Amino acid sequence: MSDNIFLKIINKEIPADILYEDKISIAFNDVNPQAPTHILVIPKKEIKKLSTTDLSDQDLLGHLLLVVKKITDKYQIKDYRVVINNGSEAGQTVFHLHLHILAGRIFNWPPG
Ligand code: 5GP
Repeated sequence: MSDNIFLKIINKEIPADILYEDKISIAFNDVNPQAPTHILVIPKKEIKKLSTTDLSDQDLLGHLLLVVKKITDKYQIKDYRVVINNGSEAGQTVFHLHLHILAGRIFNWPPG
């Protein structure tokens, strides 16, 4: 059995509203959306957080950003925010690397 909730989604052990999937990544709607559009893009490789990546993840990290572009193009999302929370003090609660795509409302800066 997978030991984190996102691995369970990758392995289809629990359901998710999947919007995109390829060999490297998967994207699905956040279960607790913080904006009208709130999509998570995650690698299938088990990576706990951005700070645990290294040069060998260069292609993977680029791929994830291009998946963001693919999804926002597909759904015609023009303005959006991409967020990576790295570590619990930054707000990370699921320790499997993920990019949040947030859209559909005005976002403040600084994010708080
Ligand atoms: P973090 O706080 O780690 O940056 O973001 C984790 C995100 O995962 C949160 O926005 C949370 O709502 C979402 N999340 C947690 N568990 C699940 C789940 O089982 N399914 C989905 N679709 N999203 C989840």
